[in-house]
Amino acid sequence: MAKQTVLITGGAGFIGSHLCQKLLAGNYKVICLDNFITGSRNNLEPFLKNKNFRLEVCNVCNYIDIPGKIDYVLHCASLASPKDYLDFPIQTLKVGSLGTHNALGLAKKKKAVFVLFSTSEVYGDPLEHPQKESYWGHVNSIGVRGCYDESKRFAEAMTMAYHRVHKIDTKIVRIFNTYGPRMRHNDGRVVPNFIDQALKGKALTVYGEGQQTRSFCYIDDLTDGILRLMLSGENLPVNLGNHREFTIMQLVKLVLKLTSSKSKVVFRKLPQDDPRQRQPDITRAKKLLGWEPIVPLEDGLKRTISWFKR
Ligand code: UDP
Repeated sequence: MAKQTVLITGGAGFIGSHLCQKLLAGNYKVICLDNFITGSRNNLEPFLKNKNFRLEVCNVCNYIDIPGKIDYVLHCASLASPKDYLDFPIQTLKVGSLGTHNALGLAKKKKAVFVLFSTSEVYGDPLEHPQKESYWGHVNSIGVRGCYDESKRFAEAMTMAYHRVHKIDTKIVRIFNTYGPRMRHNDGRVVPNFIDQALKGKALTVYGEGQQTRSFCYIDDLTDGILRLMLSGENLPVNLGNHREFTIMQLVKLVLKLTSSKSKVVFRKLPQDDPRQRQPDITRAKKLLGWEPIVPLEDGLKRTISWFKR
């Protein structure tokens, strides 16, 4: 049977490049689009010589023109770290809005299945816990995180409109905190920050008192869930993430233990609108996709730490 083709925007980033790898191993052809604003060519090095892999350097906020058959469009391009979207708020808004519109237009033209990479940030600083897909969220549109949260909320609305009006087979994955190899050392998110600081003997920077919570999903679990969703018949949003919840102080202790680091801890001001708690309700993913995360935080951190050491 002829191989199917998957186009992935933002394929040179952390999640995107892991998906490229998994898709190539799964016998797909992969077309990766990236403008390298946060993605990196290094992440693609292992596949650049693979005849089933093609890289197109472009910005998806501009019209996307790709000849040939495409079976799936995965719209992963985004600035996903709070540090990045504070530095590039306008690019963040553009890729979530214009980029999503262009990627949907491409899917429509090619009659491809479309997958939007959305986020737990659509729930904002949630008043419902854990967060179910039916929760509408609690977002400050004009706060510093608004550029990310609102662009993703717009992207979800646009995706549903294309599904309803143009009958495109669309999927929406709401991704919760994910970590693993290939995150940038200076990414700014909590896991790479703490590992980098611990390995360099620098103080671990805890924002606020460290009592806020997150639920951390290992990258392999996440990409497995995304592929299942891509092949499923589901069109409504599905949360993917790990449901085991930790405070930031618990994460500090774990990272210090696993790196055998003597680093100290310094407390910094809590960023504006930083969600106080976050945990996905993954009932729908379990039921619809037969999926649940299997990598415990300690194991995933060990794998990430050894990658950071290299
Ligand atoms: N955080 C922290 N120290 C850091 C980086 C982040 O205490 O060096 C906190 C941050 O305030 C947030 C949590 O860790 O409460 C997760 O932050 P991250 O940037 O990873 O992503 P978020 O879940 O906020 O999008």
